[in-house]
Amino acid sequence: MSDSRAPGWGRYAPSPSGDLHLGNLRTALLAWLFARSTDRRFLMRVDDLDRVRPGAEQRQLADLAAIGLDWDGPVVRQSDRLDRYLAAIEQLTAAGLTYECFCTRREIQQAATAPHGPMGAYPGTCRTLTAADRARHLASDRPPALRLRADRTDFEIIDELHGPYRGPVDDVVLRRGDGLPAYNLAVVVDDAAEGVDQVVRGDDLLPSTPRQAYLATLLGLPAPRYAHVPLVLNTAGQRLAKRDGSVTLADRIELGNTPEDVVAAMARSLGYSARTPAQLLKQFDPAELPRAPWIFDENGLLQPSGCP
Ligand code: GLU
Repeated sequence: MSDSRAPGWGRYAPSPSGDLHLGNLRTALLAWLFARSTDRRFLMRVDDLDRVRPGAEQRQLADLAAIGLDWDGPVVRQSDRLDRYLAAIEQLTAAGLTYECFCTRREIQQAATAPHGPMGAYPGTCRTLTAADRARHLASDRPPALRLRADRTDFEIIDELHGPYRGPVDDVVLRRGDGLPAYNLAVVVDDAAEGVDQVVRGDDLLPSTPRQAYLATLLGLPAPRYAHVPLVLNTAGQRLAKRDGSVTLADRIELGNTPEDVVAAMARSLGYSARTPAQLLKQFDPAELPRAPWIFDENGLLQPSGCP
């Protein structure tokens, strides 16, 4: 948050829900390349507010180090920073920008989309509850979630790869019914607090970005620069997943690949020839980045070490 952080930080923020696959590793490599090629420091942040699988964080960090990525300072964890998120939620509440929501997931799915809102947007059922309705819910229902009272339905961001991108803003959940801060809030608060001014992540997250940037403006925080990079897909054109075969570093090592083989395959997918991130950094030019997804064919792309 202070000027002394210039030139800023890039980051990679895995959710410790399982092992990283090649798509995750490639996004991490790109985030590292974007940061290092712009003289930024690189933060490793574990997004562990939900979807935590025991042991996954340690394996993820070990895999990232094994392919030659490094990061500055200690690994940070969202679960250590709950006060920070709750303070931001308090700030929005004090400004009259939140309301309690008692809807169940099913009720939201069954309700029509908000009038004038984006498809799938929260329909605003609890926006205008009377004091009596609220008291009745509080007495009989599970604890409410807290939502943002958004005063607009879209917001524009600038993405380094996608250019200007306008996307939906809705009454996003800030605090879940279980009391934990929601991802969209936590990510915005963390990035600003840690001096992250460059967010590089998979382009599946692009649609969430306008609501995050909007939240940042409401909190008086600077929005980072964004680069949403193409995902890795399987040969059927779907987002790569564990079911697609030998897609983790451990899987590849079992098949006889080295971490350098894996980096070399990722480098090839970016149009470069290199076997370590450090070599790749010398060639990396974000302007040349392929805009299409990398189609991963496990039989074709990774040859065991030493094969032509
Ligand atoms: N933790 C999120 C994920 O792994 C990414 C968050 C982000 O990069 O903003 O999907």
